[in-house]
Amino acid sequence: MSFFDYLIIGAGIAAESAMRALREADPAGTIGVFGAELHSPYDRPPLSKALWKGTSENDIWRDVGSIGARLHLGRRIESIDPGSASVVDDRGIAHGYGKLLIATGGSPRRLRGSGDRILYYRTLDDYRRLRDLASEPLRFAVVGGGFIGMEIAAALRMQGREVEMFVAEDGLGTRLFPDDLSSFLVHYYREQGVVVRTLGRVEVEQRDRGIVVLTGSGVRFQADVAVVGVGLSPNVELAQGACLTVGDGIEVDAFLRTSAPDVYAAGDVASFHQALLGARIRVEHESNADAMGRAAGLSMAGQPSPYHRLPFFYSDLFDLGFEAVGELDPRMETFADWKEPFRKGVIYYLAKDRVRGALLWNTWDQVDNARRLIEEARPVSRNELEGRLPEEEAA
Ligand SMILES: Cc1cc2nc3c(=O)[nH]c(=O)nc-3n(C[C@H](O)[C@H](O)[C@H](O)COP(=O)(O)OP(=O)(O)OC[C@H]3O[C@@H](n4cnc5c(N)ncnc54)[C@H](O)[C@@H]3O)c2cc1C
Repeated sequence: MSFFDYLIIGAGIAAESAMRALREADPAGTIGVFGAELHSPYDRPPLSKALWKGTSENDIWRDVGSIGARLHLGRRIESIDPGSASVVDDRGIAHGYGKLLIATGGSPRRLRGSGDRILYYRTLDDYRRLRDLASEPLRFAVVGGGFIGMEIAAALRMQGREVEMFVAEDGLGTRLFPDDLSSFLVHYYREQGVVVRTLGRVEVEQRDRGIVVLTGSGVRFQADVAVVGVGLSPNVELAQGACLTVGDGIEVDAFLRTSAPDVYAAGDVASFHQALLGARIRVEHESNADAMGRAAGLSMAGQPSPYHRLPFFYSDLFDLGFEAVGELDPRMETFADWKEPFRKGVIYYLAKDRVRGALLWNTWDQVDNARRLIEEARPVSRNELEGRLPEEEAA
């Protein structure tokens, strides 16, 4: 049985960040990484944005060559046994560990349909497949009005393809944005030539003559390809099999330890207590995977410090873009400080008059200030918020 001082399951963003931190804190420890994909770690955000705007695939890789970790790619871990501190891979081979990190990310939620023209979009291979299909004048159905749906619809439309979006809610981005902004986005996407249908939940089926999108009331639409972005389920099966505590994700403490000794978790798969928000949260964003992976690596190598980072994320939708910090839940009270309605400004998300989240809409270089505002956690008036986060003037 091989043995690694540090064994990491998953070769994604959190894993790469953890490897780097482990090497920094422990120059001699052996690191073994098992990744189900055939690729070494790469950035996922460009798969729905920059790669469609001319960025080369060469620019998405994370350079792990100098870390001195042993990468086992195309290898899936099938089980964990915390009792014997070992895992078993898909060839039935056992590997022992000193410390284990579960960084398995998540899998796209699926509808009933499957087939080679229905893409549940998550990986570089999915990107390559879609890019290939998008080189032909096909009709694309995009199911889901969250990030993946909005970004892929924009990417395909920018290639000049026919795109029809099927959204269960009345607007786009409804899990994050207030109603008026979600409605504006529908209007804005239509202006860009995307057909947006808000017809409730749909199913997709691949048939001989293409894709059929079926609405709940039995109406059918035809397409050639479907891209489905209806959410993510954390990959918790290994943790469940090993009897770790799992709720919405693998539950970790402030030092990213799971309920089993010497087993840690980080990234999309893990939930942690965010003290400022006063809640256990699981975050599906790159900067969290990066920071949490790093914190887990340091913790595993004997340099623990509490992890309590506020969520941060960003997106590009045609020529609109935003960055966001903290908790963005449209059920909260919101205050919009628009410089130009729906084009440029800041939306604050408040609880008991305290700012809990900020959406910086086409407003740049204000993330740190927004973070500070949330961390202050004191009651603020609307007057105080007006103009509080202006875009930095270029020097
Ligand atoms: C198209 C797309 C666009 C995105 N855009 C943004 C964005 O603009 N901004 C942002 O903040 N975030 C974005 N994200 C989210 C961000 O990429 C994720 O939050 C991040 O990748 C999470 O990192 P992770 O390491 O936790 O998981 P992942 O990067 O998913 O890596 C997990 C890896 O573990 C592997 N794995 C799973 N189970 C096993 C097993 N049993 N054995 C071995 N390996 C296993 C998986 O195959 C996968 O390669 C985007 C994601 C996608 C898919």
